[in-house]
Amino acid sequence: AKGAGKGQWRRYQAALHNQVLDRLELRAELDQAIADRSFVLQYQPIVDLRTGAGIGLESLVRWQHPTRGLLAPGRFIDVAEESGLIVPIGDWVIEQALTDAAAWCGTVAPGDSPYVSINVSARQFRDPGFVDRVLERLSTAGLPADRLVLEITETLLLGDDERVRHDLVRLRQAGIRVAIDDFGTGYSSLSYLRKVPADVLKIEKSFIDAVASHPQQRALVEGILRLAHTLGLTVVAEGIEEEADRDALVAAGCRYGQGYLYYRPMNHPDVLRWLADAQV
Ligand code: C2E
Ligand code: CA
Ligand code: CA
Repeated sequence: AKGAGKGQWRRYQAALHNQVLDRLELRAELDQAIADRSFVLQYQPIVDLRTGAGIGLESLVRWQHPTRGLLAPGRFIDVAEESGLIVPIGDWVIEQALTDAAAWCGTVAPGDSPYVSINVSARQFRDPGFVDRVLERLSTAGLPADRLVLEITETLLLGDDERVRHDLVRLRQAGIRVAIDDFGTGYSSLSYLRKVPADVLKIEKSFIDAVASHPQQRALVEGILRLAHTLGLTVVAEGIEEEADRDALVAAGCRYGQGYLYYRPMNHPDVLRWLADAQV
């Protein structure tokens, strides 16, 4: 028994060792990836649930890794945040997404262009000069401010940071919309929503998956929708995969959503083709 325990311990040590090495390796490779701009953006349409028409696209970053293939953000965002490299990566994401979104505008009738919704991590948002850089990039790209949404998470809003609030107000005064991502996963209560300077609320996928089948979950989502609408927030349901969930969401008064039921994330050229097919 003692021998078996020892073997298990060694296997555990080896696994831990590999994990640490893996992270160290990724960390080292990220520097090079930033220098080489080895990232790509994919875009997932956000649709009007009643008609299926697109209203916006969320940008999602991937790392085109030289040996490991196309890496989803789940594989490297943590490492990027820990090391601070999320700041240059996020800068690249914003520049690229704004450029792509400006190109979408050129292909459809004025006023019909979908907005672009960009994920911003707390560390990136708190980096000094973030708001100035966004405003500068926006004007360089020539994208109207109302075609940009920035997705932030509840963690950024914890702790009542005055500077964060001020920055959010500045962004909104410039006409940029702010979305709270992954709503429901954090620790904040519904009542805190009243104080948050935001325009859009994105309800986390885990709530959406259970809407049709679990009456309690449905009641919870209905409560979130009622309050959000009272506060003038637009609600977007994340990760809709089932028609039954979509139907339950529509019945509950949710107007917008995204998910594999509609579209998977696609490359910029595919977005242009999709827009040309007048799906919007
Ligand atoms: P998120 O912001 O909650 O994005 C939604 C994630 O769910 C995306 O995964 C998307 O591909 C996936 N998804 C969408 N619809 C469905 C569905 O119907 N079913 C399932 N199973 N999944 C669906 P992805 O692209 O792997 O991104 C994961 C997370 O990485 C994002 O979660 C976001 O937090 C982060 N992320 C992505 N791009 C960026 C970025 O440019 N900057 C930062 N800071 N974070 C990013
Ligand atoms: Ca998001
Ligand atoms: Ca989310």
